[in-house]
Amino acid sequence: MYLLPYYGKSGQIYYVGSLVSKEAKGGEGSVHCLPQNPGLVAKIYRCDVLSANDIKQRARKVESMLTKNSPLASSDSFCAWPQDALYDSDGVFCGYIMRSVEQGVKLSRKLSDKLRIQSTQEELIAIACNLAIAVEQVHSHSYVIGDFKPDNLLVDSHAFITIIDVDSFQFEFKDEFFPCKAGTPEWLPPELQETSFACHSFSAETDRWALAVIIFKLLMNDTHPFTHRMTNPLAERSSQSENVICGLSSHFPETNRAGLAIGEPLTCPPLSTLPPEVCNLFRQTFVDGHIADLRRPAAVEWITPLQQLSQRLIVCSVDVKHIYWEQVTSCPWCAVKRASRVPLTIEPPTSTAPKNKAPRQNPIQQGTSPYFNDIQYRNTQPKDASIETFLTAVGIGLAIVGAFVLIFLLLVVLLGV
Ligand SMILES: [Zn+2]
Repeated sequence: MYLLPYYGKSGQIYYVGSLVSKEAKGGEGSVHCLPQNPGLVAKIYRCDVLSANDIKQRARKVESMLTKNSPLASSDSFCAWPQDALYDSDGVFCGYIMRSVEQGVKLSRKLSDKLRIQSTQEELIAIACNLAIAVEQVHSHSYVIGDFKPDNLLVDSHAFITIIDVDSFQFEFKDEFFPCKAGTPEWLPPELQETSFACHSFSAETDRWALAVIIFKLLMNDTHPFTHRMTNPLAERSSQSENVICGLSSHFPETNRAGLAIGEPLTCPPLSTLPPEVCNLFRQTFVDGHIADLRRPAAVEWITPLQQLSQRLIVCSVDVKHIYWEQVTSCPWCAVKRASRVPLTIEPPTSTAPKNKAPRQNPIQQGTSPYFNDIQYRNTQPKDASIETFLTAVGIGLAIVGAFVLIFLLLVVLLGV
């Protein structure tokens, strides 16, 4: 295989190989193996898509990220930070070097049906928690993710998150502002819907909105908080983007001021099946923070409620594939299955839990990992079976009492005689 040579800032030669995977080709660039540099990969920009001016701006941004000596460049970072810039033999900027993520899968794929049904609910909660930790790390160093979407997030077999495409981050360095110039409507707050992403478009608050949408989809069977089901099939359906703009969500009835005939999607359990602390964070983002963006909770506020949820999960007595919050009286996934008749997202906890690799150090590992905790199995019988058992017991009881009464009457008659 012919390896194309590229040159780092200090003259080091990197031999760039094939794409790291089929999905490693994006709109602006592609990610390639470096066979002679294990643990590293190269992002090469697409000169056929980006203009010379775009490449020039990207070069300045990546070089600033390298010069800035950010803590996000450390090995403990949750970001695939640039480690070197890449130039061709003419000295033209072409891309950058970053660390590779072992067995990393894009979160967008993890949310898709095929991989989601292989994930446990426990794993999805751990991913949500680790995502909040990663976003908190980025914000604590004054960066904004901007184009925040599952396509830009890699998740490994331990549910750890790595943010990729960090060259789209928004930040300032030495009085120069480096904007993020891309966004995807599904993850954008109302103020950025139908926008052209001009300078200063993004903020920590816009990231907080995207974080809440992604967590919602992780916990609620890949349901977007602003999609709904029409309870009147003749009524006109509004688009998801229109719902985001006007703040209409079937999960928060107070937002349906016009009394529209809408309900929660059948593939999604009710919000009440999550702890109130988690529900409140969704409400603060999507209702209180719909217009007042400063009311959207910071990433750090999600961590404890999600960790607590991960430690208070139980397994359904009917189907061990169903895992849910212990305070819910009957299995929400059984209800979803009955209502929607679609495959659920959850597989037995033994199917994916990794056991043979030491987890990377991060805040979540200092306590109990939400991904490795012991889930309680519910001891009670399913509701229908319980009623059946109860009625049987009552029947047997009545039969015994009846027999005693009969014997008593028989004795009275015999003794009377
Ligand atoms: Zn169930």
